[in-house]
Amino acid sequence: MNYFICHYSEIGLKRKNRAFFEKKLIFNIKEIIGRENINRIYKNISTIIIETEKSENFISEKLKKVYGLANFAPSLKTEIDINKIKDVSLQVIKDKKLKTFKVETIKSYKNINLSSHDINCAVGDYILKNTKNKKVNLDSPDITIFIEILKDEVFIYTQKIKCYGGLPVSTSGKVAVMISGGIDSPVASSLMQKRGAKCIFVHFHAYPYTSKSSIEKVERLVKILTEYQIDSKLYLVPFGDIQKEIILTVPTKFRVLFYRRVMVKITQEIAKKENCLGIVTGDSLGQVASQTLESMFCVHNGIKLPIFRPLIGFNKEETIKLSKELNLYEISILPYEDCCSRFVPQNPAIRPDIKEFLECEKRLNISKIIKDALKKVEIRNFNLNK
Ligand code: ATP
Ligand code: MG
Repeated sequence: MNYFICHYSEIGLKRKNRAFFEKKLIFNIKEIIGRENINRIYKNISTIIIETEKSENFISEKLKKVYGLANFAPSLKTEIDINKIKDVSLQVIKDKKLKTFKVETIKSYKNINLSSHDINCAVGDYILKNTKNKKVNLDSPDITIFIEILKDEVFIYTQKIKCYGGLPVSTSGKVAVMISGGIDSPVASSLMQKRGAKCIFVHFHAYPYTSKSSIEKVERLVKILTEYQIDSKLYLVPFGDIQKEIILTVPTKFRVLFYRRVMVKITQEIAKKENCLGIVTGDSLGQVASQTLESMFCVHNGIKLPIFRPLIGFNKEETIKLSKELNLYEISILPYEDCCSRFVPQNPAIRPDIKEFLECEKRLNISKIIKDALKKVEIRNFNLNK
């Protein structure tokens, strides 16, 4: 049997609500690893233990996708008995070609009559006696043997694999993410998931005026993001006809801003229907003309739901780094026909005037546009195991 012990950090600070977060965290672990791959999962003090016959690689890849975990460790299990602890610790280090080591005991339960320091010394001495050429180094050892003492059982490990931390997905409620096929909005989705939000995705496309490439791309991106949140809903909104109307009605310099504004307004209606408490975009301040403060002031003016822009202070390289880490990048950079790059003016407004902008909006029959768009929406469902 293989044992993985999982630690969380922030949930530990949740006092009265802690049980709610722990329950959701265990639920998410089960779903993400797959219930059929787990023999047993339970909590001991504030450590979550997984018993499985699956390989370390398989489980590690899955656990890295569980938001709320601080780290996890593939471990060996033994009993509350100093002789057994010594033997298993020796087993862990014996065949490793490492010179220096340190023993670190974490005592979460008082069920052994020895202090952490006593256990460190006893195990250290035992290893020194039973190996050749190994030395203790407390400052920068080649390897640390962690001995974690819990209620009725002890886990021994040498490797803590770091996770993203944050809060379990779905503990913070739902948000509607405006997802394009680009690099930014999938990363913005991921940052919201990390803080416990479940994402509903909304994508605007110009099919049949363009190919289906943006839809296919977004589907692939949502599939990856679903690995973190178990299941997802993607709303596909045809935008080609709406673009035509915008082009015919508003000044060229405001064209892209009105594409965005109408998208936000339609997303707001979908968000309300889905009980989402916010709209998320991949905007980063000043990245392009439609993302200056003045442009965002126009585009998002008067929108009732809060708008979250997790990347607002990110430089492009920082977003790309995360995009690569999350395996989104390769898909995000594939060529596609973005509805917003159709009929883009040469000189878009960079510092639009809000009064002039809102005056122009009166020429569009926005409530009709929204009503028509909602009728044409298509919904795709995604599930981790499908
Ligand atoms: P991204 O990489 O996410 O496409 P970007 O830097 O290309 O972002 P823009 O194209 O200006 O920026 O879009 C800004 C934000 O508007 C996007 O991050 C996304 O949230 C939203 N958005 C843009 N195009 C679409 C679309 N076709 N469908 C849904 N949302 C969109
Ligand atoms: Mg884009």
